[in-house]
Amino acid sequence: MVTAVVGANWGDEGKGKITDMLGESADIIVRFQGGSNAGHTIVNDYGKFALHILPSGVFYNHTTSIIGNGVALNIPDLFREINEIVSQGVPKPKILVSDRAQIVMPYHKLFDQYEEERLAGKSFGSTKSGIAPFYSDKYAKIGIQVSELFDEDTLREKLESICVQKNALLEHLYKKPPIDIDETMETLREYRGMVEPYVCDVSSFLYEAIKAGKRVLLEGQLGSLKDPDHGIYPMVTSSSTLAAYGAIGAGIPPYEIKRIVTVVKAYSSAVGAGEFVSEILDEPVADELRKRGGDGGEYGATTGRPRRMGWFDAVASRYGCRIQGATEVALTVLDVLGYLDEIPICVGYEIDGEVVKDFPTTVKLAKAKPVYTTLPGWKEDIRGITEYDKLPENCRNYIEFIEKELGVPVKMVSNGPGRHEIIYRD
Ligand code: GDP
Repeated sequence: MVTAVVGANWGDEGKGKITDMLGESADIIVRFQGGSNAGHTIVNDYGKFALHILPSGVFYNHTTSIIGNGVALNIPDLFREINEIVSQGVPKPKILVSDRAQIVMPYHKLFDQYEEERLAGKSFGSTKSGIAPFYSDKYAKIGIQVSELFDEDTLREKLESICVQKNALLEHLYKKPPIDIDETMETLREYRGMVEPYVCDVSSFLYEAIKAGKRVLLEGQLGSLKDPDHGIYPMVTSSSTLAAYGAIGAGIPPYEIKRIVTVVKAYSSAVGAGEFVSEILDEPVADELRKRGGDGGEYGATTGRPRRMGWFDAVASRYGCRIQGATEVALTVLDVLGYLDEIPICVGYEIDGEVVKDFPTTVKLAKAKPVYTTLPGWKEDIRGITEYDKLPENCRNYIEFIEKELGVPVKMVSNGPGRHEIIYRD
């Protein structure tokens, strides 16, 4: 049985918390896309952690954590993260790394930086972790798979050929020093030493596991609207954020993904540039929500950047759920809204004088103005409530309004950052 936990919005929906929570009854947790560019914040019995590359299942003794072939594998980041959690008292996790995962090279990070510098004010707001250059190389077929670390001669030959192209760009476009091949080979030897104990044919491991009835969780990074095909292109990430890609990025049959838990945030937040229709433009109002949001404020887990804040966007979230193929919704951070007298919800986009309910392409999105409906707030702290019926009526109305807009059952309501702060609905 395979379950995917994915985001319906712009990321930061609280997938880490939901994965950590569902991990309790899982055997295997797989990261299938993205890299160490975004982060999940998790609060559990060991403390508070910001994970960037490790799957959110690393806190359990009984789970195996997998870095699938679809991930942008930053080997030093992976090992830094393992050491960090172990030094904070978490038992050493069982980790497997796909032999088909590709490696974020030291020069990917440099190219990311140089390109952002070159674009200056017109940049994509990259986290500069080398993710876009990494995926560009992967699809240009000049990436390096983990398996290739183990054949030095072929690796060097390949690197030499890659460097002809890279060094031409470095010299002429960016005016920077060339890549030193000997030094890069030395780094790759170190990477090999770090990763060797964990390397595995993940697809075959998962095939056997699924056959044996193991419970597998696929953990997505970012959300639907950052998907390179279906999101707000070009302000997207470089790998697919969709549950469907879980089949590819983990190497399992698509029909095995039976449950798609789509995490929807009770309000909106986004990092970096890009269209964001329901953004709160009144800065003091946005800042109040930002400060109260998430667990300790809405600031990026990797970059510390303040997130852009918005009201719940039913148009974007409905689309986000549909494109994920959501079988159920986990509605998160609802407790944060308890201070508001009334809560606007964006229920339509006005584009060229017409109100639309379907999420448009980016060109049209740029012209969209939000159409709001306002619901009364509940003015109560709902943390600690464990039964749906005990929630204030206005709070239930807010949830049920959203559920109707999404057209997908809201089966979980998260009312606090902690692992057990969750209300299940039948
Ligand atoms: P992810 O990348 O989707 O895992 O999301 P992030 O970790 O970036 O952001 C979610 C933030 O909200 C984290 O700080 C979580 O601890 C916190 N969080 C998750 N669920 C809840 C919730 O229901 N209530 C509150 N107050 N915080 C939550």
